[in-house]
Formats: sequence, C-alpha cells, structure tokens
Amino acid sequence: MYLRLLRRLLFETDKRLLWKLAWNMGVKGVVSVERFKRRLKHGEVFPPFLYVSVINSCNLRCQGCWVDVAAKMEAMPPEVFHRMVREAQDMGNTFFGVVGGEPFMHPRLFELLEPHTGCYFQVFTNGHFITDAKAKRLRRLGNVTPLISVEGSEIVSDQRRGKSGVLSRTMQGIRACLDNKVFTGVCTSVCQTNLDLVNEQWLDRLIDMGVMYTWFHVYRPMGPDGSPDLCLTPAQQLELRQFVVEMRAKKPIIIIDAYYDGEGQALCPAATGISHHINPWGGIEPCPIVQFSRESIRRDQDNRHLRDKFRQSAFLSDFRELARSTTRGCIVLERPDLLRDLVDKHQAPDATVRGTARQELAAMHTRTSQFNPSGEIPEKNFLYRLAKRFWFNDFGAYEGFDHSRASAPALLNDRRA
Ligand code: SF4
Repeated sequence: MYLRLLRRLLFETDKRLLWKLAWNMGVKGVVSVERFKRRLKHGEVFPPFLYVSVINSCNLRCQGCWVDVAAKMEAMPPEVFHRMVREAQDMGNTFFGVVGGEPFMHPRLFELLEPHTGCYFQVFTNGHFITDAKAKRLRRLGNVTPLISVEGSEIVSDQRRGKSGVLSRTMQGIRACLDNKVFTGVCTSVCQTNLDLVNEQWLDRLIDMGVMYTWFHVYRPMGPDGSPDLCLTPAQQLELRQFVVEMRAKKPIIIIDAYYDGEGQALCPAATGISHHINPWGGIEPCPIVQFSRESIRRDQDNRHLRDKFRQSAFLSDFRELARSTTRGCIVLERPDLLRDLVDKHQAPDATVRGTARQELAAMHTRTSQFNPSGEIPEKNFLYRLAKRFWFNDFGAYEGFDHSRASAPALLNDRRA
C-alpha cells in the first residue's frame, strides 16, 4: 500500500505541484504547527490552520447549509485577504482553507491566491465552475488543491444540493482538474442518504480516476433548516471511523480527518486552538458553524495586528475553555445551551445576515458528535499515527478532562442522535 501510494504520488501528479505540496504544506506546515506548540507553552493561541470563507454566495442550495447563500453577495476584497494572509505569515502560517459559499463564484478568486506563492491553499468547492481553463490556471499556480464535494448518486446529489444535474457538473470539474494533473481531493458530508459512498468500490473509483485524497465529514444539522433526520446514528459514526482507519492501511489514497488523534480519541480543532474560521464579512469565529463573532480581520473595524485579535479575544478564549471542559466532541451538537449562554455572556453579535443564529441555537436538540469514549479506534497505519502524535493531537487541551462529566456517553443511547 505504501509503495502504491508513493508510486501514485510520483507518477500521477505534476512534479512541480508535488514539490509545492511537500514544501509549502508539508515542511512549512510542520514548522507552523511547531510554532503553535511553542506559543501554547506561553499560554498564547494563534491557529496555524485558518479557514477563510471568501464569499457567501453559492449556486446550490444544500440541505442543512448554514451559510446565507441567497443573501446579497459579500466577496472578501483582495486587500483584506492579502493583509490577513501576510499577518498570519508573520506568525509562521502557510496553510489556508478557502471556503464559501462557493469560492469559485468569487469574481477575484485568483487575484486572492496568486500573490501568495509561499502558502498552500485548499479550496472547498462543488467543482461546477472549474473549467479546463481554470484548472490550467490552478496548475500554473501549483500551490492550490481543490477539495471537491460529491454528495452521492445523481438522485441523492440533486436532493441533497437542491438543484438538478449536480453530480455530472461536479464530475466535469473533477475531470478538468485531473486532466491537468492538479492535486485533487474529493469530500463527502456523510449522512443517512449517502452512506452507500462509504465503501471500498467508491475509493477504488476515486483512485482509478486519479483523485489523491478524500475526506468523509459527518453531517452536522445546523442553520435555519438543519434537517436533523439526515444525521448519522452513533453506531453509523463508529462504522465510518472504522472504515477510515481500515482503508488508510489498505488503499493507496490519502484519507483526511480532523476529529481524532492517533489513538482514536476525539477532539475538536476549535477547542484545541489549531483552527478557527473567518467569515466573508471578516468576522473571526471559533469555527464555521459557530456564527458569532466579536473580532474582525478588517482594519477599518479593528486596527490591531491579527496576532493581537486572536491573543486578546476573551470570546475565543472562553469558547475554547468551555468546549474542552465540556466534551472531547462538538460542544455545538452536545451542549448548544452552554454555547448560547457563552454568546450571551460576551454579547457576541450574530454574524449571519438572517440574524437568527441565536434562536437557532436555542431551538437545537442535544445530539451526539465524534466523542465516543467506549469506541476509540487507534490508527492502524503507522504513518498517520506518527504524524498525528507530533502534529495533530489535542496538544494537552483536555488535560484533566473528566470523562464522567461529559455529555456524550449519556447521549450514545439517545435514539434521536
Ligand atoms: S465546535 Fe464542533 S463543528 Fe466546530 S470545530 Fe469543534 S467539533 Fe467541529
């Protein structure tokens, strides 16, 4: 498996792009996490992995989407994006997740990315706007990987994404990237209607196509129409985790996840501080589904350096503290009531256009998340295990965490979850 993956990396991708990945994302990414760890020792948090929503608009209308995609378009101005990247680079960052809405609807997306040749960007997209010409441009840039979402068969995709013909347009986008040897990933938000994608045949198909990595998110019921009936049961979440661990040791494709350390213990990247989110209006949020913000990256609203905005944010700091003292899973799903109290305490403004995020939080039912202490599945593939031990774990965030106080174990029997 290791040899087959190495062969794929060496012979199925453009060497220049592979070098950019290894250097900008691999070596420099590791250095940025090491700097993050050093800062933590002094009690300072600045996330090495920032996720930036550069636009709210989208051509699709997915079930359970929490972004105000139908509201007036807000496209992050290049000067705001550039300054944010430069100030994050001052802190040693090189990786940025570019999210939306649909990032390729940003009229100046390439203008955002092009100047930052020393960084690495992962663009979360439905692939519909990736033409051959755009894929060629991505290849020329070399430091951008599209992560293209596939949500199931043709029928399921149309149903999940609120339009017709979604899958074939997505596949065209993937094809354009692969024909141009762009380092390409495919992700799926796994829910009740697309569980059939979690199988070996699907991975084999991705490998045959030339896809280099994949990511199975677990569907989260958020936003004004959370569609909670789509949620996986705890047993299905466990099966998914088992599948990922098995396939990492078997298939020559990289499989990403963000919610487990090498020993299979759950974690929340926002609680550990390794990652936070910036919305299209510039608001800094703990993560994309916590749509409340007290700080902004925009200098016209707050003139401080990005470092100080993160370092001095009482809202972010209290969020991390609350999240890690409550559960190793997702506080939004498990204890929305506590999150609502925190938002009230800090009078954190609702960062949505619809202005109903607080009411949505108040109406949420408690659900299970990735935290399942009786079902921890350690990595079988030693490379993942090793890499996570050094560069993706809880970084001591849950030291002294009392499992018996956590909400998740009690929830595992909750049939609604
Ligand atoms: S709060 Fe929940 S959704 Fe946000 S990063 Fe943590 S686990 Fe993920």
